[in-house]
Amino acid sequence: MVGRLQETPSATQRLRPVWISEDRVGGRARASRVGVLAMQGAFIEHVDMLRQIGAEAVQVRLPRDLEGLDGLILPGGESTTIGKLMDAWGLRDAIRHVARTGMPIYGTCAGMILLASDVVGQAQPTLGLMDISVQRNAFGRQVDSFEIDLQIPVLNERQFHAVFIRAPLIQRMGDNVQALASLPNGTVVAAREGNLLVSSFHPELTNDPRLHEYFLSMAGR
Ligand code: GLN
Repeated sequence: MVGRLQETPSATQRLRPVWISEDRVGGRARASRVGVLAMQGAFIEHVDMLRQIGAEAVQVRLPRDLEGLDGLILPGGESTTIGKLMDAWGLRDAIRHVARTGMPIYGTCAGMILLASDVVGQAQPTLGLMDISVQRNAFGRQVDSFEIDLQIPVLNERQFHAVFIRAPLIQRMGDNVQALASLPNGTVVAAREGNLLVSSFHPELTNDPRLHEYFLSMAGR
């Protein structure tokens, strides 16, 4: 288990913007309302990060919790366990439905596995929403967890401190998938396809909100 990293927030991190969405009914501005799938894994850390950047965070356990959301985060954890719990509560079809209506969804680590169209070498049911093939626990037993600074051009020049915990990697990307970040050896570890965003690593375990802010900008209306 890796705890929160002890980083001193930079000036830009302390000056957090409030993310605003247009209210669909009244046309009034309001904070973005983002759901975090709260079945198992690192969901509290995403909730905390979203609140720090001024978004409203909602823990999602039932299909009805998806109503009125501007976006949804699928956290890291154990993808097989999260998948089973999703089925038990009827969330698999409900999430597929909101994704097809265009709701932005961000899958981190196990969440990335859940979004993938297939898992290499395993008959593991996923949501099958994003045209990527992922390999689970791809970095071997000796290096189950590691941290590295990455260049993520859609953010800005400053490198992003990425925490990998028994992480998956993206082995294949469809033509419409855009690589957002890669390891020095070229392995893609963050990508986007339309309203879908994935990262092999855990941005919620750092004090750097830039990927969450990028995700909120996908949800901005
Ligand atoms: N190893 C986990 C899995 O395969 C993912 C780990 C994580 O989310 N940090 O589901």
